[in-house]
Amino acid sequence: MKEEGFIHLCQPDSGKSCGACCGLYNYADSTRESLVDRLRNRTRIFRETVKKANDPKVFLNRIRSIESPERIYDTIHCCEYLGFLDDEEKRVGCLLHPLQNDGEDMRDLSFYGRELCAGHICPSYHFISRDEKLSLTRIVDDWYLYGLCITDIDLVKEYFRFISEGICEVPRYERFEGRLKDIALDFFSLKISWPFRSTDANRFGKYYFDGSQYMISHIDYDHLGYERSRFDKIFLSLTSSFRTPDELREGEEIIRKNIEEFISCYKTDAIL
Ligand code: SF4
Ligand code: SF4
Repeated sequence: MKEEGFIHLCQPDSGKSCGACCGLYNYADSTRESLVDRLRNRTRIFRETVKKANDPKVFLNRIRSIESPERIYDTIHCCEYLGFLDDEEKRVGCLLHPLQNDGEDMRDLSFYGRELCAGHICPSYHFISRDEKLSLTRIVDDWYLYGLCITDIDLVKEYFRFISEGICEVPRYERFEGRLKDIALDFFSLKISWPFRSTDANRFGKYYFDGSQYMISHIDYDHLGYERSRFDKIFLSLTSSFRTPDELREGEEIIRKNIEEFISCYKTDAIL
């Protein structure tokens, strides 16, 4: 039973969705272009081959014979049944889902099985507040960026904490349109365009895998001769690696300017 006012983060509206827990971003090449190719091919082949109960296995074998299996973390499953749900390629999702197959639920054929796939709720549902959920789903319209951001709890909570402190209230989600939406979108787009992103192959957000367990890749402030930055959590979420104190300062400036611009614009718009 869903609570009143429940916000479905997986499929929030007709313009985007998330497929992160199906392994979407765990491919060695998880650039937008590469994922679009992957999902587009799968969707086409699924529609061509899957007509009856056992066909998904034929589909699976075909996909495995043509796709690169290289992953960031071998321990995280990347499900081949993730594809596009709509012709416009705005929503990613499960090709085995009953809504995609005239009511027939084929998820039992998957690695996790129907029960796990249908019942999974990721930590973002619990830790991201209702206001933050409503705001973020207004700010980000595109599936690729949306999935990266909605699963990054620290990034979301830190940004809203900084702007809330500056405007002395929780920003009202209705305000995320026009210029305010653009400024917030600029911030969340750093998830893709951050200039100080580490190139280490085994990094994902703040985590890296040391061969046996997931560890947080902390920033070595001592080495940079710097105090721990107030934006430390944001830096970690952005997979940062700073080689010099100047790079660290530049990173702080990018974040500071965005937050201050948002605060100023929010206050000015409120007066007008
Ligand atoms: S990571 Fe969370 S929001 Fe994304 S599809 Fe999975 S459960 Fe849904
Ligand atoms: S079968 Fe499960 S893991 Fe695979 S795409 Fe569907 S919901 Fe995701």
